[in-house]
Amino acid sequence: MGAVQLESVAAQHAHAKLNVDSLPQGPSLFDGNDTARIDGSKSDEYERFEKGLMQYGCAHYRRRCRIRAPCCNEIFDCRHCHNESKNSIKIDTARRHELPRHELQQVICSLCGTEQEVRQTCISCGVCMGKYFCEVCKLFDDDVSKEQYHCHVCGICRIGGRENFFHCSKCGCCYSKVLKNSHACVEGAMHHDCPICFEVGVQLLICICSILFDEWFNF
Ligand SMILES: [Zn+2]
Ligand SMILES: [Zn+2]
Ligand SMILES: [Zn+2]
Ligand SMILES: [Zn+2]
Ligand SMILES: [Zn+2]
Ligand SMILES: [Zn+2]
Ligand SMILES: [Zn+2]
Repeated sequence: MGAVQLESVAAQHAHAKLNVDSLPQGPSLFDGNDTARIDGSKSDEYERFEKGLMQYGCAHYRRRCRIRAPCCNEIFDCRHCHNESKNSIKIDTARRHELPRHELQQVICSLCGTEQEVRQTCISCGVCMGKYFCEVCKLFDDDVSKEQYHCHVCGICRIGGRENFFHCSKCGCCYSKVLKNSHACVEGAMHHDCPICFEVGVQLLICICSILFDEWFNF
């Protein structure tokens, strides 16, 4: 038993991880229990799906699509790239703006260039445009080592692994489970300007403050 047993548990784990928050749309590659297709036979469909993984993106995300900003109709790698370019002091105040993230509708596949509505799998070439995909936040990221998850109560994507965090309804945010019985509640804690990343509210996936909260409470 030993080795064989372990291997199949690992395979199931990989399978489960791929499915978390990132079910491919359209013809599903991972339906049923056929882990064999993922670990063993590399079907054409699967190869198309995985093509270019971690090879595309910007300073902020690894992803296989770019976005069409609904505000100025221009194409950017991500909303942070848009904001760095359009919301900087170099732009005159009348034209300066942030991308209204929830209004994002169109993405452009980085592999085949097809523009399409926000979805995980390219309608044209079948590539997965983001291994992590959140339909609510319209977020794509191939780098799943961040362990992204969407907290339905916070209404945003966070990093660090769902299993490591709990949502405190009084604070209105997610904290590390290490703090479960010891954190001092601050109502709407995460809705104040963040002193670390200087974002208003904590809407940044990359914001590591939820992790740093560990340290703040241990002062
Ligand atoms: Zn814009
Ligand atoms: Zn970017
Ligand atoms: Zn494509
Ligand atoms: Zn999300
Ligand atoms: Zn939460
Ligand atoms: Zn709390
Ligand atoms: Zn922050």
